[in-house]
Amino acid sequence: DPEDSSLAYFDSYMENELQREEAIEEELSKFLQGEGDGRLYLMFQPMVTLKGDRITGFEALARFESKALGLVMPMEFIRIAERKQLICQLGEVIFREACEFLRILESSGNHGIKVAVNISGVQLMRECFSEGVRDIIGKCGADPSMIELEITESILVSDFEVINERLGQLRNQGIRIHLDDFGTGYSSLHRLRELQVDTLKIDRSFISSIKGTDDNDSITGDVIRMAHRVGLVAVAEGVETDLQKDYLIANGCDYYQGYLASPPLEKAKAIELLARINPKTDETDENQSA
Ligand code: C2E
Ligand code: MG
Ligand code: MG
Ligand code: MG
Repeated sequence: DPEDSSLAYFDSYMENELQREEAIEEELSKFLQGEGDGRLYLMFQPMVTLKGDRITGFEALARFESKALGLVMPMEFIRIAERKQLICQLGEVIFREACEFLRILESSGNHGIKVAVNISGVQLMRECFSEGVRDIIGKCGADPSMIELEITESILVSDFEVINERLGQLRNQGIRIHLDDFGTGYSSLHRLRELQVDTLKIDRSFISSIKGTDDNDSITGDVIRMAHRVGLVAVAEGVETDLQKDYLIANGCDYYQGYLASPPLEKAKAIELLARINPKTDETDENQSA
């Protein structure tokens, strides 16, 4: 009976999923207790100006790796960490590591380059979140105006008032807030005006549907203009082609990220790219006087 066998297949699929989830949970908690061979690290993807192709910052993207699991992507382990109450501890490790990268940027002479960190709604809902952030920033001696936090639009469905107050506290510390994956959630447009954010990151799904430089059917241009109307900076996510980039330039988008500029890179490669793309001011001066 074909139905039976597909059920059996479904059962074993679910069982494997469950086993993998349990294994990820176990490796993550071992890692947080300083045990096991699990390793958490960050990759950095540049954010680039659409006019002039200059790198203004990097987004930190988390990776987890262990002998038993291999490489685990955040789409998989963040959700598990959220469900198993590990996300706050994990988030702290990630935030410290991002501040450490900021220090490396400073000490390699790359002043004014920002670092964006993704945070989970679970972290933001904790009362002590903004104090925790302030503590880590203080201990690292980081400049809060070089730090950006990314929240996904989907977390706005819960407790708008509480979240907005938290975001306000963070912005008062000088931290900028990005609204990530914009267009995939349910945030109503009139609330965008009151929302304590600085930047709209337009979701990749909008960008990948752009059909030409003067694609009048794409609403991406409307989203960019709306962002500007309510005083927000517009960033395009997941830009992969010159055609998409040209459309974004024609429609006045401010920044872009995506494989066209660069995939996420390891620390050292990120610093290398920066040296190539953004020549230091003093080097430029030398060239000019030569
Ligand atoms: P996101 O914040 O929207 O990050 C963008 C994702 O798109 C990243 O995937 C990035 O590698 C990928 N990407 C960048 N450019 C392109 C492109 O041109 N084409 C395509 N197809 N993809 C591109 P990644 O690193 O797998 O992260 C997935 C999601 O996991 C992130 O989406 C973010 O929501 C979450 N995440 C990542 N790191 C963290 C973290 O440290 N904490 C939390 N809470 N969530 C994180
Ligand atoms: Mg993000
Ligand atoms: Mg995003
Ligand atoms: Mg996205």
